[in-house]
Formats: sequence, C-alpha cells, structure tokens
Amino acid sequence: MRLIGDYHTHTVYSHGKSTVRENVIEAMNKGLKTIAIAEHGPGHVFYGVSFDNLMKIKNEIEDLREEFKGKIEILMGLEANIMDFKGNLDITKDQAKELDFLACGYHNGIIPKDGLGKILFSPLRYAKKLSTSLEKKMIEYATDSMIEATYKYDLKFLTHPGAKFYVDANRLAKDMNKNTMLEINNKHGYLDVDQLRLVKDADIKFIINSDAHKQENVGNVSKALDRIVEAGFDISKVVNLEY
Ligand SMILES: [Zn+2]
Ligand SMILES: [Zn+2]
Repeated sequence: MRLIGDYHTHTVYSHGKSTVRENVIEAMNKGLKTIAIAEHGPGHVFYGVSFDNLMKIKNEIEDLREEFKGKIEILMGLEANIMDFKGNLDITKDQAKELDFLACGYHNGIIPKDGLGKILFSPLRYAKKLSTSLEKKMIEYATDSMIEATYKYDLKFLTHPGAKFYVDANRLAKDMNKNTMLEINNKHGYLDVDQLRLVKDADIKFIINSDAHKQENVGNVSKALDRIVEAGFDISKVVNLEY
C-alpha cells in the first residue's frame, strides 16, 4: 500500500522547521499526488498562525501551483483549534471560505472560551487520574464537542482524535457528520489501536497523515500504518492510501 496524499503538514509559519516550498518539494520527491499545508489556527497562543499569515501561505501556494503545474496538487488547509466544549473553532466560517479545507483538533496553548473549557483545559484535567467517573465525564465532554464541531463547520477531518483529550471513537464515528473523516495521525498516536478496533465497521471514511513539522517527515505515515495493521483495519476505508 502507498500513501498518495499528505493532508496535514506544518511549516515555519507556526513551529515547523521547513518552508511551504520545502514541504511541497519533499512531497513531490516522495511521489505524492497531493500535499496540503494545514497550519495551526490563530487561537493557539504559541504556534497559532494569524489570518494575515494564512493568506501569505495561500499566496505562496498559488505561486507554487504555477511553478509545479501538472506535477503535484497543493492544497491550503488549516488545523483549527477547538476553543471550548461546544465545538467552536478559532476561525470564522467566512474566513474558512479562503481555504481549500478545514480540519480541527484539541491542542494545549489555547485560552478556552467557556467555563467548562477553562476548567477542563487547566492542569485540573490531570486530576482525572484520581477518579474514573471524572475521566469518563471528560471523555464524554470531549467527544460531544468534537461531534458538535462537525455539524457547525464544514470539516474535512478531525485531527488526532484522542490527543490532549481522549475521545470515545465509537460514539464519535456513530454520531458525527458523515462528511467529516477521522484522522489516523502519524506524529501523535491517535486514533490508537484500541480506537481503530472500535471503529473498524463504522460507516465513515478515514484519512492518514504525517502531521510533519519538518520536511523529511512529509509523507511519513509508517507508525500510523503499523497501528492500522495491528488493529486489523480495512485500509479501503482510508481515502489516501492506494494499494
Ligand atoms: Zn495537532
Ligand atoms: Zn498538526
């Protein structure tokens, strides 16, 4: 099996080490048909990319599309931040129209917008280890919020579901908008093997991505593939694998 597109890569605009151009060249060298830049949304205090800079990336992509015409498809995505426990993101729907696609996930380094978020994003969250019922509640909130995001926004995929806040992949796959995919992320370990086993028969699609923060990792999904194999997952459900 072969990866044909990597829809989740970062650049020097956030905390990545390589430029947009370097990621694109790496993807071409590795024989990918599609590469996307999906930077961190502006709500991240440390790594967020301002809307102005997102438009600069867009311009760079437009130039690269001219330069590498016919050689590779280059997409302008965004990995928005879930900002609260109601599935709200750090980008408006109007702003999102400037992008080729929108994805989102949980990240530290945001300032939550709602009371529940302020509690759950604080170090208090680590108290979940003290109580099974608290941990269950947190999984429930985090899962609900991801589900809500898929109905509030036109989302291509949910990034690394389970990272930062664990989620119930079974319920997520059952209740989310079926036009949104779940990501199998190489850098973070999510979906993990347990989650992959749970969603094996779900009526949704999946996407596998590197989440590369440097050029050499673009197109590298080896660890995610290992998890897929371990879970006995049907790879025909993964839209960007060819076999
Ligand atoms: Zn992320
Ligand atoms: Zn990322």
